[in-house]
Amino acid sequence: MSASQVAVGPKVFGHLMAEVISKRICCKCGLCVSSCPVNAISMTEEGPKLVSPCKACGACYYGCPRSQSFSAEALETSLDSDKRDDVLGRYIKIVSARTKLDKVVARAQDGGVVTTLLMYAMEKKLIDGAVVASKSPIDPWKPVPRLALTAEEVLEAAGTKYSNCPNLLALGDAVYCYELSKIGVVGVPCQVAAARNVKVQPYAATKLGTKIAFIIGLFCMESFVHSRLLEYLSSHKIDVSRVSKFDIKEGKFKVYVDGSEALSVPIKDMRGCVNEYCHVCGDLTALYADVSVGAIGSQRGWSTVIVRSSVGDKLFEGAVKEGYLEVKDVGSGVETLKKIAARKASKK
Ligand SMILES: Cc1cc2nc3c(=O)[nH]c(=O)nc-3n(C[C@H](O)[C@H](O)[C@H](O)COP(=O)(O)OP(=O)(O)OC[C@H]3O[C@@H](n4cnc5c(N)ncnc54)[C@H](O)[C@@H]3O)c2cc1C
Repeated sequence: MSASQVAVGPKVFGHLMAEVISKRICCKCGLCVSSCPVNAISMTEEGPKLVSPCKACGACYYGCPRSQSFSAEALETSLDSDKRDDVLGRYIKIVSARTKLDKVVARAQDGGVVTTLLMYAMEKKLIDGAVVASKSPIDPWKPVPRLALTAEEVLEAAGTKYSNCPNLLALGDAVYCYELSKIGVVGVPCQVAAARNVKVQPYAATKLGTKIAFIIGLFCMESFVHSRLLEYLSSHKIDVSRVSKFDIKEGKFKVYVDGSEALSVPIKDMRGCVNEYCHVCGDLTALYADVSVGAIGSQRGWSTVIVRSSVGDKLFEGAVKEGYLEVKDVGSGVETLKKIAARKASKK
């Protein structure tokens, strides 16, 4: 039997449990919860949990970016770019860019490219909703999945929260509660793999996939367990409710309180806060996104942008042409990015 003829047996939540959750490699993206047609899966701090009988449709299993059914090759070949780098994956172009919108500069993490692309797409009606991560109104700096329905709501969600956020819970809301049909999705590389998988894998919850208009990926070295981040801050006598920004730059984790730098420690100091499931991830640049965005490789205040598909190219070039973004050559920043991406890939 050839690889393309491998029999597809029925899969249940138990397979996800055995292959992914109990092995502690679940990235808690939320896709399995959104995929379940009978709402039998719930997301907890420990990961997805079965809360009512599984109907054995397999949608949770086949959408999962960490199950044995996951095929990186299938995802990569679904991107229509003609260039490929061994470390950075498929691409059309790699540039530096930054927002031209002052209100985005004030709130964004780096060049504000992610928020600006989403605001452009929302204002031009290319999307009717965006899956983003907001800050919890009760738990300072705890990210919570959010379905933004306006450009203002996209703006409110700008800025990086370094703890895990099950963003794809909001994809289910977008499709099943709001019946949206053109959704922009933002996520870290594991979430991007899930979002691309649900578009490509025929046994996944394809209804969700067909409603995704584009996927914007964030570069990500690792994310933190929120409770451990809070403990770490408290050990440094930092009141999280006064933190104005977190940042990771040049190997340092930085905390700003009321706008001033209050802590700068080598990133290796944060090892105890890192999510276990990050240790099996070798993807720094969100290989399966339409557009990937991060700080590595660009000057401060600018973002490195990897445009990976014609969908991403149309979005990015539209935002540039309409005066939302400015662009410049990324120069030798690409080599820096390749070096760091290769380092992450080799640790997998
Ligand atoms: C956990 C994490 C680790 C990262 N590590 C690196 C790194 O090592 N190197 C690097 O160059 N860049 C890293 N980034 C990306 C970087 O912090 C910026 O998000 C990126 O440069 C885009 O900047 P921007 O100004 O365009 O984003 P903005 O315009 O500020 O938009 C940021 C977008 O990210 C979404 N978001 C915020 N937090 C999360 C989250 N926890 N999960 C999912 N979505 C979220 C927001 O909703 C918003 O839409 C990381 C991001 C995250 C979330």
